[in-house]
Amino acid sequence: MDEFGAKYECLFFDMDDTLYPLSIGINLACRHNIQGKESNVIESLYKLFNYILINIILFLYAEFMLNQLGIKESEVPKMCLDLYKEYGTTMAGLKVMGYEFDNDEFHEYVHGRLPYEKLKPDPILRNLLLSMPHRKIIFTNADKAHATRTLNRLGLEDCFEGIICFETLNPSSDTTTQILCKPSVQAFEAAIRIADIVDPRKTMFFDDSVRNIASAKAAGLKTVFVGDSVIVPGADYALSSIHNIKEAIPDLWEDNKDEKKVETIVQQVAVETMVQA
Ligand SMILES: [Mg+2]
Repeated sequence: MDEFGAKYECLFFDMDDTLYPLSIGINLACRHNIQGKESNVIESLYKLFNYILINIILFLYAEFMLNQLGIKESEVPKMCLDLYKEYGTTMAGLKVMGYEFDNDEFHEYVHGRLPYEKLKPDPILRNLLLSMPHRKIIFTNADKAHATRTLNRLGLEDCFEGIICFETLNPSSDTTTQILCKPSVQAFEAAIRIADIVDPRKTMFFDDSVRNIASAKAAGLKTVFVGDSVIVPGADYALSSIHNIKEAIPDLWEDNKDEKKVETIVQQVAVETMVQA
């Protein structure tokens, strides 16, 4: 730590499956909806993705691929998962493959149909976030509408100074342009630039994705893997839940104490100076 500086200045938080867990009702509700469609491909996707704990949003990606892009039913499950793993989002992978579609239409198709009412306010997390003295920024691959709606449902909308999201990293409306998103290291470099971060080592990044953690480390950030207490490659810390942040990383609150210490030192110096004068 610097003599009078904080150890950390900024905190980047992923949102989906980091600020709220996979086990929340949003998954179960989507399962019910998907089963209600009596679609074999969607049902098989549910079983596949639930088994490996991938976010429910993938199911809606798959529906879009099937219904809007006309991709063969037999190819959708593997393709959807492979693109998600390779490019960070299925959407980014589809663009690399040459599929052309309107980005807003895609987001509306997927996120416009999520059961947001299943997300409830989280006052514990809210208090934790507000008690940390650092700059706090959401860094998500999701679009702004989904990020805003989710944060509002969680009661966290005023805990962050900003949101770096799909539109921030991809301002062009050109449907053929490749998409910039996590886990690309360039996406992290862009986020660092946008947030005006001078020293990435003083920014801590929280995410539930192993690949995002590895890229964040490559970009020079301090990293926290969320969702399991086992350290993954590139992670400096690991939390089974974001609620464990204070127990696992007490350093973040030490910065607060140091600020008070500095204030005391400054006051003492000021008094001494006055006496000398
Ligand atoms: Mg996530």
